[in-house]
Parts: sequence; C-alpha cells; structure tokens
Amino acid sequence: MTRVCWRKRASSIEWLERDRPPSGADEQTFLLLVGMFPMAWFKRQSGDVDASGAKKVRTEGLWVKCDNCRQIIWKKDLEENLNVCPKCDHHFRIDARARLALLLDGNQYQIFDCNLVSTDPLEFVDLKAYSSRLAQAQSETGLSDAVINARGKLNERPVIVSAMEYSFIGGSMGAVVGESITRAIEQSIATKAPLIIVSASGGARMMEGVVSLMQLAKISAALARLDEARVPYVSVLTDPTTGGVTASFAMLGDLNIAEPGALIGFAGPRVIEQTIRQKLPQGFQRSEFLLEHGMLDAVVPRRQLKPYLSRALDFMTRAA
Ligand SMILES: [Zn+2]
Repeated sequence: MTRVCWRKRASSIEWLERDRPPSGADEQTFLLLVGMFPMAWFKRQSGDVDASGAKKVRTEGLWVKCDNCRQIIWKKDLEENLNVCPKCDHHFRIDARARLALLLDGNQYQIFDCNLVSTDPLEFVDLKAYSSRLAQAQSETGLSDAVINARGKLNERPVIVSAMEYSFIGGSMGAVVGESITRAIEQSIATKAPLIIVSASGGARMMEGVVSLMQLAKISAALARLDEARVPYVSVLTDPTTGGVTASFAMLGDLNIAEPGALIGFAGPRVIEQTIRQKLPQGFQRSEFLLEHGMLDAVVPRRQLKPYLSRALDFMTRAA
C-alpha cells in the first residue's frame, strides 16, 4: 500500500519536473496504478465530524467593517480610537452612555429625571402597537426613553448634559424626550451650570402625533428662559440629526457644533429632490456642507470634542 502511494507520488513529481506527460513505461505504470487503486490521496478514518464546542473559534463581533472605507477593523482598535475608523476617520455612531463617558470627567455623573415613561396618548398602532415598540426599546436599551439627563463635570466645571439615544426608536422625540430636555434646561437655569445637548435623532415621534410636535415649542420656550438667565448652551449635532430636532433645540445653541460627516437636515434628500425637481449637490446635508453654508459654527472631531467644549465654556462664562 505504502509502496503504491510512493510510486504514484513519484510519478506526479516527475510530471511536474518534466512539465510534460511522462512517456513510455512510466506513463503506463502510472495509469495502471491509478486504475487499480481509484482512491483519494487522503482518507478520513471515520465518517464522523468532530463538532464538539471546545474546538470552535468564536470570531463574531471581533471585527467590524467600516461603512465608509469598507476596511475590516479589529473592534478593540476601533473602541480604543473612540469609535472613529483608524483608517479613514469615519465617525461611527455611539450610544448615549458612551457619549456621557466621553464628555464627563472620570465617567462620573448623576442621572436625573430618567423615570418618565410615555403614556401612548393616541394608542397608536402601525405595523405593530406603539406600546409594544416602547416595551421592546426599553428592554433593549435599558432606558425609559430616547434621552439621558446627566449632571457631572467637564474638565472640573459642573455641566448638565442631555444625550440622545438613537437606538431607542430612532432617537425620536415624543412627550418624554421633550419633557426630559425641558427639565435639563430648568436644572441649568437653577444651578447656572452650562447646558450641553448631544442630538442623535430622526426627529419628532410620529406615534405621538401633535403631542410630539408640541415639544418643539416647549423646549424652545425653555431655551429662551435659559438665554434670559445668561447660562450658555452648546448644541452638539451627531449623526443623524434630522426633522423636528433640527427644527428646534439642535439649532438653537449659543454654539452649534457637529461631528464630521454627520447627516444633519430637516427633510430627507429624496423629499427635497422631488419638491424642487433638481439634483442635490455632493455632500448635501453633511456637517462640512452645513459649515460651509453658515448653518454650523464648527465641525469638531470626536477626539477634540471635550477640550473644544471646555475652551468654549471658558470663553462664554468669562464673557458673561
Ligand atoms: Zn474607515
């Protein structure tokens, strides 16, 4: 048996070396042997495949593909780089808790007014009931609605931060988000601590209809009171900030700044194209485009966000 295999291998090596089929006796021997033993080079000893868990290598979740440059990035590298692609600088979306950890000293803060829950005033049902959408979002995010209010320090300065959570029904603004942000503004007025609102939202929450639209006016009125109290408010717009949120508090900051490449707009590009019957320019509704057209004060990379806010608040409180 061993001898046969050896002969077989020797023949094929000769084939490779000569780069042409062997001739004469060699070829005949080879074909004879192949004919006699029509078997594979390697044979599985038993038919069973070992599928015990111990040998499995788990790779899922270790690698992430960048939406912008399509490169594969090790997830740990991405997280160490504040969820910014190390290859092309694309800013990945981060959740509200990661945002608070990024901005507040030592990831230390107190959450307030986080127990408000929507009452589903219209008992709304689309593809599924709004109440069950709410319950699902609450169990997935561990939040009662799409915003976290926190009291903490930014470079040792007391601040109030409202961070929106996009993964909670698209960060949409219903009565609870409106009320939470209004209470954050009132905290700022009461304590004179500057206010920072980090937006990440698809806009007003359709399932609450006019109740969600009322939040635009309520928050705007509260921001007017904040202005009268001469307490600074910085609006940080992140990907995406659209609809009723752009139309109200996100654009009402004393300073409106955005992360690079963030989608910021009111109506979506398709709706606009269909309305004005024109092709929209490249980069339309992205932070850099808005900065160029005077809708933003600055585009600030994530790594520089905290020092930038600190310098801005220094300047604003000194001026006040
Ligand atoms: Zn990238």
